[in-house]
Amino acid sequence: MATLLAIIRPGGRTQRCDARCYDARPDTACNCVCEGANHAAGLAVAMICTRRQVQRWIALARERDPDILTVEIGLDVQTDPLF
Ligand SMILES: [Zn+2]
Repeated sequence: MATLLAIIRPGGRTQRCDARCYDARPDTACNCVCEGANHAAGLAVAMICTRRQVQRWIALARERDPDILTVEIGLDVQTDPLF
């Protein structure tokens, strides 16, 4: 299960965008750090979407909760593939 983005708060509370989000059924509720952008999108589309929007999602999360300790961006979405 690839984690695309993880936001870690004090006490170890972690919010992730992972397969529970991008592989979810479209008719389920979403309360994800991706603001629902990756919900039910599948991994390939979610990776593209995350590359484009991850900095905005991190800024939004920090705006809502300035106590965020760490942000981890999945290795697969940190760079565009070369080929
Ligand atoms: Zn998500």
